Amino acid sequence: MTDKYAVIGNPISHSKSPFIHNMFAQQTGQDISYEAIESPLDGFADTIARLRAAGYKGCNVTVPFKFEAYQLATQRSGRANDASAVNTLIFEGDQILGDNTDGVGLLADIEKNVQYKLLFKDALILGAGGAAAGVMWPLFNAGAGIIIANRTLEKAQTLAKAFEGAGTVFAKRYEDLAGRRFDIIINATSSGLSDELPPLPDGLFKPGALAYDMMYGKETPFLKFARAQGASVIADGLGMLVEQAATSFALWRKMRPDTRPVLEAMRKQ
Ligand code: NDP
Repeated sequence: MTDKYAVIGNPISHSKSPFIHNMFAQQTGQDISYEAIESPLDGFADTIARLRAAGYKGCNVTVPFKFEAYQLATQRSGRANDASAVNTLIFEGDQILGDNTDGVGLLADIEKNVQYKLLFKDALILGAGGAAAGVMWPLFNAGAGIIIANRTLEKAQTLAKAFEGAGTVFAKRYEDLAGRRFDIIINATSSGLSDELPPLPDGLFKPGALAYDMMYGKETPFLKFARAQGASVIADGLGMLVEQAATSFALWRKMRPDTRPVLEAMRKQ
């Protein structure tokens, strides 16, 4: 019998997850279906209840429901607790297991696809939402010192405080970044959606630096800025999307698909 999965978000019609998971299923011979489902903004818990009642085995969760998914999970992985956000749910009997694969997805993309060595780097994260929270722990594990800069300083401070025992982390305003230089700058804001650039000062990129925008599908103002400022390595978030999906798939199906052909197919689209 076909096992059912889905991605839940609002909006969701743009989602590439069905394409990715259907390619994974073909590649591994797994008998699954995977669809995109838009949940009403005030109806996430009802949507999940409906999926469980209909026999779905799990789902991915995207904007704006990752924090609600965290609350809804009856058991949470360490990665989910670190981020206080969940992007993968597994339905097992009366339990809802919650995990977060965004951070490992970013790490896998940077190390495997972009082939950038992360060890002991000075990292700047732009943004303090769910995506930023999800990548903090993997960056610490790679020995990075982290500055979080956000439009709303309080959110950056809250995030920094949540991780202060894990390593070196500071919260800053964008204007406080002048005069600093970084090996890695990750844009984890949704500014690219509105074709905006956070107000970044010049001279932030060290020689050899990586500029990574979690958004994908277009050259964002951040990536244009990074190119103009001389960042050596430039990457968008498509690889992260495919890698986080592969970890979700592995959690559900107990087998890891090969991400390379899927990423190649998506780059060609
Ligand atoms: P959230 O809504 O949780 O957070 C959004 C963040 O962006 C906040 O820090 C917000 O600042 C900031 N922001 C929004 N607009 C602007 C702007 N115009 N200028 C400066 N800052 C801005 O979103 P997520 O953290 O879940 O996602 C962030 C981005 O990462 C999205 O674009 C999402 O698509 C992408 N993403 C990609 C993934 C991938 O696999 N490639 C996985 C997960 C996310 P403030 O706090 O001041 O409002």
